[in-house]
Amino acid sequence: YVTIENINKSFNDQQVLHNLNLAFEEGEFVTLLGPSGCGKSTLLRILAGLTTPEAGIIKIDGKDVTNVKPKDRKVGMVFQSYALFPNMTVEENIAFGLKMQKMNKEVIAKKVSRMIELVELKGKEKAYPRELSGGQQQRVALARSLVTEPKVLLLDEPLSALDAQIRKNLQKLLRSLQQELNMTTVLVTHDQEEAMAVSDRIYILNAGHIAQEGKPHDIYTRPANEFVARFIGNYN
Ligand code: ATP
Ligand code: MG
Repeated sequence: YVTIENINKSFNDQQVLHNLNLAFEEGEFVTLLGPSGCGKSTLLRILAGLTTPEAGIIKIDGKDVTNVKPKDRKVGMVFQSYALFPNMTVEENIAFGLKMQKMNKEVIAKKVSRMIELVELKGKEKAYPRELSGGQQQRVALARSLVTEPKVLLLDEPLSALDAQIRKNLQKLLRSLQQELNMTTVLVTHDQEEAMAVSDRIYILNAGHIAQEGKPHDIYTRPANEFVARFIGNYN
């Protein structure tokens, strides 16, 4: 459903992505896993259209989108820095994307209230971002993206700032919504445990190269090389 072909990317003469090839099936939950600085966010930003690769082709649903603007790629994004609109309440933040689509007001209200329930923010509808905890803000950002039901959902460490219990709950929520809406989902994380828990398939990146690709169980039981064995070995 999404293909990434021969992608190269350098910053200031330093190559950070080396001729990468990846492919994601429709409705698949794929995780890009690797240590800090290996190029995960850069790859996700290229998929979103926020960063331009030097070479290579991105296809979504059979269409070459390499030169298509971010807003026309029909992808939803949640990034590490979840910039909410500070002058909008929780429900206004979540409704924003739907209003842009000129959707019927009652339909918007229904979708927003269901989403608020799902991410457990009932009672916070009228709150402003500054009145929320970091974790609550992350949940608003997630809800704001999910409510538009994108065909492709890109997530860059959306749960990183959360405590363990909320994080586990949100992983479950994310997984079930993803399956319900059949969203092709690409999660970036450096957390092995999270990757193992939620993914259909994992790509392990090391310094801009793919170190291994496979199902969580296969990677865990049969690491392809020493890098993967060491990296996954930290998983406990
Ligand atoms: P982390 O887990 O810490 O978020 P990451 O795997 O997401 O790491 P990237 O953000 O993709 O890593 O960065 C990959 C490499 O590219 C790093 O060496 C980084 O310093 C470099 N880099 C990323 N963005 C830029 C930029 N805009 N200008 C220059 N170098 C950059
Ligand atoms: Mg990153």
